Amino acid sequence: MPERIVETRSRKLRVLQAEREATGEPAARPQFQPKPDWIRMKMPRGEVFFDLKQRVAELGLHTVCESASCPNIGECWNRRSLTIMILGGICTRSCQFCDVPTGRPLPPDPNEPEHVATMLAELGLRHTVITCVDRDDLADGGAAHWAETIRAVKRRSPELVLEVLTGDFKGDTAAVDTVLAAGPDVFAHNLETVPRLSRQVRVQASYARSYTILRHATERGAITKTGLMLGLGEELDEVRAVLRELRELGVHILTLGQYLRPSPKHLPVARFVTPAEFDALKAEALALGFPHVESGPMVRSSYHADGQRDIVRAIQGQRQAARG
Ligand code: SF4
Repeated sequence: MPERIVETRSRKLRVLQAEREATGEPAARPQFQPKPDWIRMKMPRGEVFFDLKQRVAELGLHTVCESASCPNIGECWNRRSLTIMILGGICTRSCQFCDVPTGRPLPPDPNEPEHVATMLAELGLRHTVITCVDRDDLADGGAAHWAETIRAVKRRSPELVLEVLTGDFKGDTAAVDTVLAAGPDVFAHNLETVPRLSRQVRVQASYARSYTILRHATERGAITKTGLMLGLGEELDEVRAVLRELRELGVHILTLGQYLRPSPKHLPVARFVTPAEFDALKAEALALGFPHVESGPMVRSSYHADGQRDIVRAIQGQRQAARG
């Protein structure tokens, strides 16, 4: 049996074991919930998957697909679709939903922008998402490194539609301007949850600050995108209120997906939102006027993001025509 499969299985066993142990937790915390059959994960396997994994390692890159234990990795990587995570593999924050390791990160790797550009040029993608860990230790939150990365990618792959999924830069709108000046096609920042749960879910962040970042990028003329995880204890009416607010703001692309608990150390799933509820929310969001909505149990902000290429190009085309 290949070593990597053994590694994956033993990790899975450790998680299962930990989940079993979690059933002895205090009564206040919900017990392990079996996943409904609409939550489907493909085992990561196949030549394309392992080739990609090897190339990511050779270039010393990180991906959120691996670091956040994304359940879609088996599917996405076999479509040669991955989300590179820049500024290292250690995050300065400790969001309660996220599996990316928290700690004291190393200084940004000056070679990372070129390595990201090389990887994406090799893959020959038409659309991709790059994200980052939060770097509260850096004076600019990593904005200059972001800009360098965007420019390197655009130089090597001028036709690529590039979406950047950033943190909140502690509310520093000048950092957002630095990122936007490098010319990404889409600026994304996730609200993650409704205002009432924001502090609990994203300990060092706030809904208001994230909203400010999105508003700033939208007012600067960026094509903007955000995402929410459902199943954390929010009411559907709270979600609807956020959707209305986002639409009034002019956010273009919305993703809604089911929160899945990466380990017993993370927030428990409050409930599994049904596929019918996701469909209904998508219809409501489209009726509000969002140009594009991805909504479903397995949706993540970068899941099938390549399907958003046409809408991004269409919005850019309309804007160009309006400018004459
Ligand atoms: S959904 Fe996004 S993070 Fe998850 S495997 Fe796919 S590309 Fe990676």
